[in-house]
Amino acid sequence: MIKEVEGFIFKETPYGDTSKIINVFTKEYGLIGIMCKGAKNIKSKSRALTLRFTYAKFNIYYKEDKLSLFVSADVINPLKNINQDIVLISYLSYLVDLTQQVLKQSHEPSIYDNFINGVLKIEAGLDPLVITNILELKYLPFLGVGLNLDECVECGSKNNIATINADKGGFICANCLTDERIVDAKIIKMIRMYYLVKIESISALNIDSEIIKEINFFIDNYYDRYTGLYLKSKEFLKNLLTL
Ligand SMILES: [Zn+2]
Repeated sequence: MIKEVEGFIFKETPYGDTSKIINVFTKEYGLIGIMCKGAKNIKSKSRALTLRFTYAKFNIYYKEDKLSLFVSADVINPLKNINQDIVLISYLSYLVDLTQQVLKQSHEPSIYDNFINGVLKIEAGLDPLVITNILELKYLPFLGVGLNLDECVECGSKNNIATINADKGGFICANCLTDERIVDAKIIKMIRMYYLVKIESISALNIDSEIIKEINFFIDNYYDRYTGLYLKSKEFLKNLLTL
């Protein structure tokens, strides 16, 4: 039976002379493999519909735990702005890699919605670094290293939070503070906001660039210290941004 699934192509791999296999992150079934017969053929209609980073509704013969079979697809959003911009494509490559790592650990349905909504917000012109940081924060619990944004990591106190520190793993209260750098109270507030916000509801971002930088610095360090992930696409993006 043919099924319609919504999804985003993470990867395409040639298969034989004329076919390819696509790995699609679907809303309904998580990450699945789909065989696209003849899709490498230059005259094939399905060629353009099976490219990496295509966001579409796919009609497939779904086979559980096996390769499904491609029938047709309708693009939901062609992501024109992202596709025209090397920096935005680099953000997307990193988010795809990161999401794949998250999917190795969890199949929580919110991962799909957060990923797609994040991509759509970047396409709509919102700051890609802020959207990426929001996704990175939301993914942390699925990577087994969720941030505690309620209390001091040392003593559990909910009062007098003085700073946030990546090495220590979160908030530090005034009593437990030793030589950690003090960050602006706005940063602590914004990190909470990033973590709790519903991505689809964001219509505009009006955040001071220094605060954006500080939050990125924190998340970057926290990832290095606690997730054990090393993604080439992240290194590539970082280099691109400092050029
Ligand atoms: Zn404390």
